[in-house]
Amino acid sequence: MPDQTRPKVTIIGCGTPTPTPEAFGSAHLIEMPSGEKVLFDCGPATTHKLAKAGVSVTEIDRVVFTHHHFDHDSDFPTFVLSRWDQLVPADVPLHVYGPPPTAKFCRGILDEPDGLFAHDWLARVNHPGSQVTFRDRGGVLPRSKPQVVPHEIGVGTFLEQDGYRITAARAEHVQPYLDSLAYRVDTDGGSVVITGDTRPCDSVTKLARGADTLLMMCWESHDMVSGTDHDLATCSILGAAETAAEAGVRQLVMVHIGARLRNPEMAEARAREAESAFDGEIVWGEELMRVPPPR
Ligand SMILES: [Zn+2]
Repeated sequence: MPDQTRPKVTIIGCGTPTPTPEAFGSAHLIEMPSGEKVLFDCGPATTHKLAKAGVSVTEIDRVVFTHHHFDHDSDFPTFVLSRWDQLVPADVPLHVYGPPPTAKFCRGILDEPDGLFAHDWLARVNHPGSQVTFRDRGGVLPRSKPQVVPHEIGVGTFLEQDGYRITAARAEHVQPYLDSLAYRVDTDGGSVVITGDTRPCDSVTKLARGADTLLMMCWESHDMVSGTDHDLATCSILGAAETAAEAGVRQLVMVHIGARLRNPEMAEARAREAESAFDGEIVWGEELMRVPPPR
């Protein structure tokens, strides 16, 4: 399998809505064979974590949301304004994909006059003190507003270009209050599935069938989830492992890991639970980790 055509994953956010020193919220970066970098979700501090990972916001022209819980999208205003502010002299549109309310979410940040951050770019575009900063970076006045193009999507393939294809499937999370999608990236050299938040379900298993790498939510141990209402919306260690086994993936990467499971005392128990159902490669995700090629 030619390595240069493999989709390469960097975990940017590997946590949950609970802030911890090690992880907070969700975000993943996939580098395509062409070198294009696509960001999946934009949870808390994504922009800063991208910088820590050595990735400039200006390298990213596509963002894909799994759903619009704040631990998956709340850094987006920072990301989009930072990208626009650093991207000089030309403003290249940012394409944003996701289930509803992706369009409303984007418009609500930037549109005039009521977007929550419209005052920011309006001040930067119009004040001479901001204009000189823009010119110092190589910009040419007049400065344009941030260009964001939202695409609300459902299940199915929605991007096929430049040596990669991205397909969405339904994830079962907190419907009917909020839609959620899981995504599969296929290239000539491999395949990666990002579930976002989901309980184990047939649509996610089918999406992941035969994939090289499955990044799956791992909220808690089975005994803390099974038989409770957590079962309706989230996935346990065992649930992720059973999904990986049923789908026949090569490598399972645990992400969105619950804070309790990050306790070093849990290391043995969590490994035991995962290995009880899946005998492939298991990786416990960490922020800024470059996921290794599957063994
Ligand atoms: Zn969620």
